[in-house]
Amino acid sequence: MSGIEAREPEDLRRIRESVRALCAEFPDSYWRSVDREDAYPEAFVRALSESGFLAALIPEDYGGSGLTLSEARVILEEIHRRGGNGAACHAQMYTMGSLLRHGSEAQKQRWLPAIASGELRLQAFGVTEPGSGTDTLGLRTTARREGERYIVNGQKVWTSRAEQSDLMLLLARTTPKEEVKKRSEGLSLFLVDMREARGNGLTIRKIEAMINHSTTEVFFDNLPVPAENLIGEEGKGFRYILDGMNAERILIASECIGDGDWFIERARDYANERVVFDRPIGQNQGIQFPIARAYAQVRAAELMVRQAAAIFDSGEPCGEQANMAKLLASEASWAAADTCLQTHGGYGFAREYDIERKFRETRLYQIAPISTNLILSYIGEHVLGMPRSY
Ligand SMILES: Cc1cc2nc3c(=O)[nH]c(=O)nc-3n(C[C@H](O)[C@H](O)[C@H](O)COP(=O)(O)OP(=O)(O)OC[C@H]3O[C@@H](n4cnc5c(N)ncnc54)[C@H](O)[C@@H]3O)c2cc1C
Repeated sequence: MSGIEAREPEDLRRIRESVRALCAEFPDSYWRSVDREDAYPEAFVRALSESGFLAALIPEDYGGSGLTLSEARVILEEIHRRGGNGAACHAQMYTMGSLLRHGSEAQKQRWLPAIASGELRLQAFGVTEPGSGTDTLGLRTTARREGERYIVNGQKVWTSRAEQSDLMLLLARTTPKEEVKKRSEGLSLFLVDMREARGNGLTIRKIEAMINHSTTEVFFDNLPVPAENLIGEEGKGFRYILDGMNAERILIASECIGDGDWFIERARDYANERVVFDRPIGQNQGIQFPIARAYAQVRAAELMVRQAAAIFDSGEPCGEQANMAKLLASEASWAAADTCLQTHGGYGFAREYDIERKFRETRLYQIAPISTNLILSYIGEHVLGMPRSY
């Protein structure tokens, strides 16, 4: 459907085709059933791990495929375009970035090959807390050094896939706010081995949510974490997670592009097939134009995603483009979702059409991993030079 895709270089097309073949094993009925049962799509995640797709961004020296972000984004885009949901495991692709960039060589040797092979799942990222929300620097979970270990106390919320993960990347305060010069200092990043932690100071409670996302609340009660699991230097954790966020935003934006195309294809096909008043509903401009407009929005957002990924791969700063890609792609996928539902009339609400499921799923991207307002405030302040609004 996409004109851009038709002109894609051979290597991207090859990735797209092999993801498409894998996704063919997991049709709509599979996603509908895991959604209805609120179950983790274990078989899909296993297949994706075994195919090496989740290790796309891990360098070959550590057992991964060493792909660029421009290549890796195609994987998530294609999963969503085929009706699947990469959110079940996308964190395995990018959460390891902090370990890769800031971990010691010993930590990388210890963890990355096992993450690359899928033997260990690093899919949980514990940042958000009930008391601080978007204001990450206000987080209250503490890690207190005691000899060769840290003792963690506090709570996280919306920690997705904690029950399915072997490892969690955890952001906690190691120096009280009152004792640091800047609020962004004194936070540290840890790799928590959930296999040892569960029942030993870590409790996980599932959150019943609007979508099937395996998201949880996590409680820390004097959880010991070996000091050797501290990533980089103590007190610099916030900076470490910030520089992983551009990759996350670009990959999530790619999922939105895939969703957008899925919705448009479904809307187009239904508009062509469904006959009311003796003619296909797609003959009415009231049905046709919103689909055409949503298509144009998705294509425009896709250009921004591709540009952001290319700048990321060049090593140049890409905060502006990564944020705009996430903003535009999440709004484009939502416009496509709304149009698709409207095109389907009452049948859009029937589970067997899958529209309502994808509609719920794609709405998330305007909230998480970062909400639209915070992206707009980033553009206002850091790109346009207006006063900080919070
Ligand atoms: C399904 C799901 C999965 C998630 N997975 C994870 C995960 O794995 N790990 C993790 O750490 N977090 C996760 N999150 C949390 C997510 O990142 C947060 O929900 C999100 O960042 C917003 O935080 P909040 O919900 O506390 O909203 P709040 O901070 O309470 O904000 C509420 C609303 O107010 C707006 N707002 C707040 N302050 C301002 C301001 N100054 N200016 C303008 N608007 C403002 C926000 O944009 C938002 O729309 C997940 C969330 C969901 C729903």
